[in-house]
Amino acid sequence: MDLLKDKVAIVTGGSRGIGEAITRKFVANGADVAFTYLSSEDKANALANELSASGQKVKAYKSNAASYEDSESLIDQVMKEFGKIDICVNNAGISRDNLLLRVGEEQWNEVIQTNLGSVYNMTKQIIRPMIKARSGSIINISSIIGVRGNAGQSSYAASKAGIIGFTKSIAAELGGRNIRSNAIAPGFIETDMTHYLGEGDNAKTYLSKIPLARFGTAEEVANVALFLASDLSSYITGQVICTCGGLNM
Ligand code: NAP
Repeated sequence: MDLLKDKVAIVTGGSRGIGEAITRKFVANGADVAFTYLSSEDKANALANELSASGQKVKAYKSNAASYEDSESLIDQVMKEFGKIDICVNNAGISRDNLLLRVGEEQWNEVIQTNLGSVYNMTKQIIRPMIKARSGSIINISSIIGVRGNAGQSSYAASKAGIIGFTKSIAAELGGRNIRSNAIAPGFIETDMTHYLGEGDNAKTYLSKIPLARFGTAEEVANVALFLASDLSSYITGQVICTCGGLNM
């Protein structure tokens, strides 16, 4: 399939997990992709080299999504090197789980700035070229935890709920310019972030709450991102697509 032929996408946190799966999926569907990482330099460069063999342009950029300055220079550089940006996936994120009694201010700020601040940093920059082009798809990776909350995840839940409000507001602001803004709320997806899922009783407890009775894969989230990035979803904006095996019911 070539659902993204001639499109240029930018994906934050594309070196591992869900971001890597989205990068792979977009390239497999004909897009040129610029993706970012923070620390996994070797892995990111290896992925860019591997995917460049497809003949499409794929490049890894070291850029801290939590930094406004980094995001500003990233967008400048990608615009110069790729010529345009049609799709922006705000995926970079972290979790620092703890009961509120033990969540310090520094930890709180780190999670909010990385998960929610990054979405502002990137979207603020990206909408200029998108408004000029009168076209664009912005996809923000929220979480089912932002929809329903979870004990021990107040900072993470607040950051991911904030992403949903932001996504809907941008959809309302920019729909008239043919820029769509949607969020994906994944459930429990097997990545480095959720390595704890496979451990004994924990896994059983989580699985018992998921109607589809299994954890999801990064590729299953990437399939939804592909849908939202492509013209298949041309009349969809301001939506949150829960990709969670029914956990949100
Ligand atoms: P992951 O495996 O831990 O990968 C995180 C990715 O984000 C890595 O590529 C990492 O880069 C990058 N990253 C982290 N902080 C960054 C920063 N400040 N600037 C730039 N890149 C940064 O996580 P994941 O499970 O794939 O999660 C991806 C997104 O999905 C996150 O927003 C997460 O909250 C969300 N999500 C995940 C799940 C799940 O069950 N896994 C569920 C719901 C939502 P490096 O490789 O350089 O560290």
